[in-house]
Amino acid sequence: MTTPLYIDGAFVAPVSGGSFPAVDPATETAFATVAAGDAVDADLAVRAARRAFDDGRWSELPVAERTAALRRIATGIRARLEDIAALETRDNGKPLPEAVWDIEDAAFCFDYYADLADAAEERGDTAVDVGDARFDSRIRREPVGVVTAITPWNFPLLMAVWKVAPALAAGCTVVLKPSELCSMSCVELAKIIDAAGLPAGVFNLITGTGPEAGAPLTEHVLVDKVAFTGSVPTGRKVMQAASAGIRTVSLELGGKSPFVVFADCDINKAVEWILFGIFWNKGEVCSATSRVLIERRLYPRLLERLKEAAENIVIGPGTKTGVKLGPIVSQSQYDKVMGFLERARDSGARRLTGGGRPAGMQTGYYIDPTIYTDVPLDAEIWREEVFGPVVCINPFDTETEAIAMANDGPYGLAGAVMSDDLERCDRVAARLRAGIIWVNCSQPTFVQAPWGGYKSSGIGRELGEAGFEAYRELKQITRFDHHETWGWYLDSEEA
Ligand code: NAD
Repeated sequence: MTTPLYIDGAFVAPVSGGSFPAVDPATETAFATVAAGDAVDADLAVRAARRAFDDGRWSELPVAERTAALRRIATGIRARLEDIAALETRDNGKPLPEAVWDIEDAAFCFDYYADLADAAEERGDTAVDVGDARFDSRIRREPVGVVTAITPWNFPLLMAVWKVAPALAAGCTVVLKPSELCSMSCVELAKIIDAAGLPAGVFNLITGTGPEAGAPLTEHVLVDKVAFTGSVPTGRKVMQAASAGIRTVSLELGGKSPFVVFADCDINKAVEWILFGIFWNKGEVCSATSRVLIERRLYPRLLERLKEAAENIVIGPGTKTGVKLGPIVSQSQYDKVMGFLERARDSGARRLTGGGRPAGMQTGYYIDPTIYTDVPLDAEIWREEVFGPVVCINPFDTETEAIAMANDGPYGLAGAVMSDDLERCDRVAARLRAGIIWVNCSQPTFVQAPWGGYKSSGIGRELGEAGFEAYRELKQITRFDHHETWGWYLDSEEA
C-alpha cells in the first residue's frame, strides 16, 4: 500500500497517482511505497494552509487550546516511540538507540514549544518608550503565516519537528515536505497530528522529490516563509526561488566543522569525543566535527589510539544490538561518499584506516569508519562536506595556528575545542567563527539552545527561543493621544 499525502485534514493520494519506493539501506530492498506528490498537490496543500491561516481557525484559538494540542502531539509521539524509532532505523539505517534519541527529542520539542507559547502569551505585548508622552507604543508578536518546511534525510522526523513544532506553537500553518530518501516517519507524524485533532489545513504533508514537490513550495505566491534544511546547492536554489516574492527564508545548511584538541586533555576523552563527533549517525550530521586539529605533541599517540578505536567500531544493520555504525542512507549517497574517498587517494592525504567497503559485507551501503591524516589544506577532502563516516586530521603547533586553520573554509556551522585549561577553551570558543561551539565534547544538542550557522552554513536559527521567534513577526502598534493636537496643517484650535 502507498503512503498517503495529508492535505486539508484528509489523507489523500497524489493527484498524479505517482509513487516511489522506500528502501532499507541495510538490505538494499524496498519495504514500502511512498506517494509522489507534485506541484498540483503542493498547490492544494498551500491553499489549504492559507485558508486555515487566514480565517484564524488556529492563530486565533486561545493559546491554551493550541498548546494543549501540541502536548497531545508530544504524547502521541511518545506512545509510539518504539515503532517510529524502528521505522526510522529501517528507512535511514541509523542504529536503533540513536533513532530512539531522535524520537524522544521530537516529542520533547512539541512540549518545549508549547511551554514557550504559553509563556509568551502570559508576557503579552512589550511596551516601547518612544520618548514622547503623547505616544503609547508597543510590540505585538504575530505568527508569520503560511510556512513551508523542506527537510533532509539524516534526522528525518527530528529535522521536520524542529520546524513544525515552533511554527505551530507560534500560530502558523504548515506544509511539510520531507526528503524523498526518508519520508516514512513524517507520514506517521501526520497521523499523530490528525489524531491530536488540529483543525483541517493547519498541518499538511507532501511527500515527493525536491524538484517536483519541494520547488513548488518555495515558489508559491501564497507562502509567507520557507524553512529549509539541506545542502548548500539546494539552499541556494530555495533562496533564489523565494526571492521572487521576497518571502522570508531560513536556511540550515552544511558544514565541515573543526575540532581543536590540545595536548593537555585526557586522551581517553579525546578518543571518545573525536569518534562521536564524526561516526555518530554514520557521519551524516551537518555539525559533524569532520576536521580534527591535534596539538603536535599529542598527535602520534592520539592517532594510534584513534585507529585502534575506529577499527573496533561494530558495523552492521541498525536493528542489531551493539551496532554503532549503520549503512549509508542510499545508493546515491554511498556513491557520493565513495567518490570523495577515490579522489582523496590522489590528494596526498595519508589513509590511517578505512577507505571503502568493510571486508565481507556484500549487501547494504556500508562504509568503514575512515580516517585521513596529514591532509593538504587545499584538498577537497579537507574542505568539502562528505556527509559520511570520514574524518580528516592534521597537527598544529600553536593556538593561533589552530584557530586560523579551523576558521579557514566556507562553512561556519559548528566547532569544538578540548583542553583541561578552561580559559584557553573560552578563548578558542570566542574566536571560532561558527554558530555552535562545543567545549570538551562534540555534538550533544539541546532543544533549549539556538542552532544555526555562520558563513555558508545558513541564515537564521532554529531551536531555543530564537527558533520560536523565527516564526513570529514583530508588529509595532503606536497610538497618539486623541486629546492632543498635532498642529502641523491646522492650528491647535481647529485640530
Ligand atoms: P538536499 O539539499 O539534497 O535535500 C534537502 C531537501 O530539499 C529534500 O527534502 C529535497 O527533496 C529538497 N529539495 C531538493 N531540491 C529542491 C529544490 N530545487 N527545491 C526545493 N526543495 C528541494 O539535502 P540532503 O541530502 O537531504 O541533506 C543533507 C544536507 O543537509 C547536508 O548538506 C547537511 O549538512 C544538511 N543538513 C543541515 C542541517 C543543519 O541544521 N544545518 C541539519 C541536517 C542536514
